[in-house]
Amino acid sequence: MHSCSLKLGHYTIRGTSTAGVETSIQVPELSICFDIGTCLRTSIRMNRLLITHAHPDHFGSLISYLGARLLYGMKPADVYVGLESVDQIQQLIEIAESLQGYSFGANLVAAIPGVPVRFGGGMTLYPYVGNHCIPTTGYAIWSESKKLKAEYSHLTGPELAHLRHQIGDQLTYPVRRLAIAYSGDSFIEILDDHPELLEAQTLLLECSFLDNKKDRSTARAGGHIHLDEIIERADTFRNQHIVLLHFSQIYTPADVHVILQKRLPDHLKARVSAFTGQGNDSQ
Ligand SMILES: [Zn+2]
Repeated sequence: MHSCSLKLGHYTIRGTSTAGVETSIQVPELSICFDIGTCLRTSIRMNRLLITHAHPDHFGSLISYLGARLLYGMKPADVYVGLESVDQIQQLIEIAESLQGYSFGANLVAAIPGVPVRFGGGMTLYPYVGNHCIPTTGYAIWSESKKLKAEYSHLTGPELAHLRHQIGDQLTYPVRRLAIAYSGDSFIEILDDHPELLEAQTLLLECSFLDNKKDRSTARAGGHIHLDEIIERADTFRNQHIVLLHFSQIYTPADVHVILQKRLPDHLKARVSAFTGQGNDSQ
């Protein structure tokens, strides 16, 4: 298993992701774990688990995650799964509970596209409809903050405090940003379905295949993205950070870095990080 940790802007992106084997990616600042294809020690600490789809390499360690949290006396996790899977995941949890004789106490939540879940601190989760070969839910985390209106920018701190006392919230205006978006396993058309992903400050995008060892038809047969398809769209990405992940195990981490270095156009390369287990994983 190769684990990886990237610090991109305000957020740490860490965990592991190999196509068909295991994907579990955490954002500790938000106590979020995307998928639980393996149960890393660091995954256990995340209070919110956001599962994209029911392929085993993305959700197969759910019971281990719940069990470990129970063992360590942690509070019940909030586990988000797509509406289409929620009943079966509930049954799975209940079977595991009956086998061991006690309850995990997990809070299972149906992730409904477009229905926001407020996390506090100005952060809101918006699930969206994914685009894979089985029903999949993507996750977008929006941040909302307040910015000082331009006409007050020349004022000193005490002046602002005085004015705030008089006019309150009218000093500022709200700014919404898509902070982090995660595709889950996906066809490239997810970027057509949800063009806002191209504006996310940090986009976590699967890229299972990288060169002609496997062509794009192989990628599409499994509902995955080929690097050729990303390169074709290189000019459309407006993200500050793009984290490519879910590489096939036919590539070593070293292969991934060499291929991305060679194939990505420079203007994209500067913003792309490879989520592998080597070095600082930046391209
Ligand atoms: Zn999948």
